[in-house]
Amino acid sequence: MERTLSIIKPDGVARGLIGEVVRRFENAGLKIVAMKMVHMSKKEAEGFYAVHRGRGFYDSLTDSMSSGPCVVMILEGPGAIAQTREMMGATNPKDAAPGTIRADYAFSIEQNIVHGSDAPETAAFEIGYFFNALEICG
Ligand code: ATP
Ligand code: MG
Repeated sequence: MERTLSIIKPDGVARGLIGEVVRRFENAGLKIVAMKMVHMSKKEAEGFYAVHRGRGFYDSLTDSMSSGPCVVMILEGPGAIAQTREMMGATNPKDAAPGTIRADYAFSIEQNIVHGSDAPETAAFEIGYFFNALEICG
């Protein structure tokens, strides 16, 4: 079993896509073991995306991630990290495969609806960033 952190970003929440994204993950057999709504401060968004500090898009990325509430959840299943990434599609929706969440809904590389951890180490960091042990219903 593997766990990954997924976020429905502020643009996805604002556009009414919470149910659609959650439905896709549940239909694919992923189990939601934790979920909550969070409105990150700029500092909290900067901490979450600290790996991208120094990149040209860091400031606007952390502005948009702190612009409104997100839904953060932990998804569990065999190969959950790769499965979630595949369902999300490429970072830039123009490159995302047909039928992926980003291909179907995202308008731009920055407002791309969802986040998913990209490796076991980042999943562990990101899960711990948002959830404590009592909040995870394994
Ligand atoms: P995420 O980490 O959000 O799941 P990802 O792993 O597909 O997305 P990363 O390279 O980790 O992509 O980039 C993190 C986020 O930063 C992207 O989802 C996107 O919103 C934004 N981003 C990445 N590259 C660019 C870029 N060239 N211009 C603008 N925004 C970007
Ligand atoms: Mg990433």
